[in-house]
Amino acid sequence: MSGLDPLLRAHALAATGFMPPEEGDALYAAAAAAALAVPGLPLLEVGSYCGRSTVWLGGAARAGGTVLFAVDHHRGSEENQAGWEHHDPTVVDPRTGKMDTLPRFRDTIHDAGLEDVVFAVVGQSAAVAAHWASPLAFLFIDGGHGDEPARLDYEGWTPHVAPGGTLAIHDVFPDPADGGRPPYEQIYRPAVDSGRFELVGVTGSLRVLRRVG
Ligand code: SAH
Ligand code: MG
Repeated sequence: MSGLDPLLRAHALAATGFMPPEEGDALYAAAAAAALAVPGLPLLEVGSYCGRSTVWLGGAARAGGTVLFAVDHHRGSEENQAGWEHHDPTVVDPRTGKMDTLPRFRDTIHDAGLEDVVFAVVGQSAAVAAHWASPLAFLFIDGGHGDEPARLDYEGWTPHVAPGGTLAIHDVFPDPADGGRPPYEQIYRPAVDSGRFELVGVTGSLRVLRRVG
């Protein structure tokens, strides 16, 4: 795997968001490999924000001859709201007073030239998951980081990962001193403990697991 095209990588790095470059590169490698390992099936991201991680994954979809669905309600997670640590006032819609990252997401995907392979699905993750039917070559979970949204993402999305496919989880912190618990406790641990997934890669807070069986 030769890595994301340098031009696309520059677009990813220019985008607002929370994906560190080396974790983005690991995400790309895992997604591109999964697209080849399970051909013909789409990739899916939960939690796109302004499209930063989405560019690495969209590049992987293109390299693997498939597409990426990018699921987000674009209203921000709890920690993105006004008064919280990760709030950015430039992504508030003045008409509604609510966060709206969809315009920024669209700009990112447009400018990166990925509109032919990246499809936004705008809505509540759990509701979309409940109506999702296609098996997935690759699933990236980086949505709501509270206990309830993380648990719902685990329950709603991980059954869609095809055998031989890959599950990647962001912001997994086994040591509580390093960060919030839910991605570790509600997604990573249950996935490994279920016996359905085995750990194949660690880069920063990114965990890459392969669906066994
Ligand atoms: N992957 C992005 C960061 C995602 S931030 C990056 O690397 O830059 C988390 C995102 O999850 C936010 O955009 C928020 O709107 C979305 N989100 C949180 N809870 C959600 C839910 N229940 N349904 C849909 N999207 C959700
Ligand atoms: Mg994250």
